Amino acid sequence: MKILLISGHGAGDPGATSQFGKEADETIYMVEEIKKTLSKYAQVDLYPTNRNAYSDIKKGKLAVNLANYGYVFEVHFNACVNDTKGNGVTTGTEIFVTTAEKTVGVENRVLKAIAAFGLKNRGVKRKNYTVIARAKAAGVSSALLETCFIDDKDDMQIYANKKAQIAEAIAIAIAEQFGLKKKATAAAVKEIKAGSVVTIQDGAVYGGLSATRGKEVPAAQRGGKKHTVDKVQTNKGVKEARLKEINSWVAVASLKAV
Ligand SMILES: [Zn+2]
Repeated sequence: MKILLISGHGAGDPGATSQFGKEADETIYMVEEIKKTLSKYAQVDLYPTNRNAYSDIKKGKLAVNLANYGYVFEVHFNACVNDTKGNGVTTGTEIFVTTAEKTVGVENRVLKAIAAFGLKNRGVKRKNYTVIARAKAAGVSSALLETCFIDDKDDMQIYANKKAQIAEAIAIAIAEQFGLKKKATAAAVKEIKAGSVVTIQDGAVYGGLSATRGKEVPAAQRGGKKHTVDKVQTNKGVKEARLKEINSWVAVASLKAV
């Protein structure tokens, strides 16, 4: 699945501002952080954060083809409650979808995840905002998040303390609701070479050229037991690693780098 994240405002338009922050800066922070986690599950593109998707549409110069995506998620911050002293209650978080959107499972899940940090859940609302409406017109589900109120001290205290975790929770909510599975990470397919620390998988047999070749590696050497590779070479056509602690060869395919 390919997901487009859009930071609201920017390119000279600061969005809403208060003593607690500038919307255009925080929206960039959020999309970059959401991408860090969501990229583990899906291909994630950021709309160029030095541009302004709204004004690009108005000028007929949108930098991406929205139809290439499976979901478009735009991030904003709300304003206009002017609670700069803090009255002890948050104004909260909400999401807009277009009037054409059929289901809002993802959006409800995202709001629930954000509300778990103590921000009031204002629910999913409908309005055909320019960018999400353009995405929906291209056949792509879309949503506009108003993360919280930038001029509410109570909201922004929670946000400032937890923004990385909030972004991560948003990413996980999106991934889980779409049923996305974590992609294999580079660590999971780490190359095995001299100096690698490895474990031996069940079913492994000894390699090398001695009489033990083909005999099963005993359980005591498998499981979580760590070994160090001191050499990798091909024996009888099989790529094998010599493990220092047991002075034995085992096929690289039966090892896992840890
Ligand atoms: Zn905005």
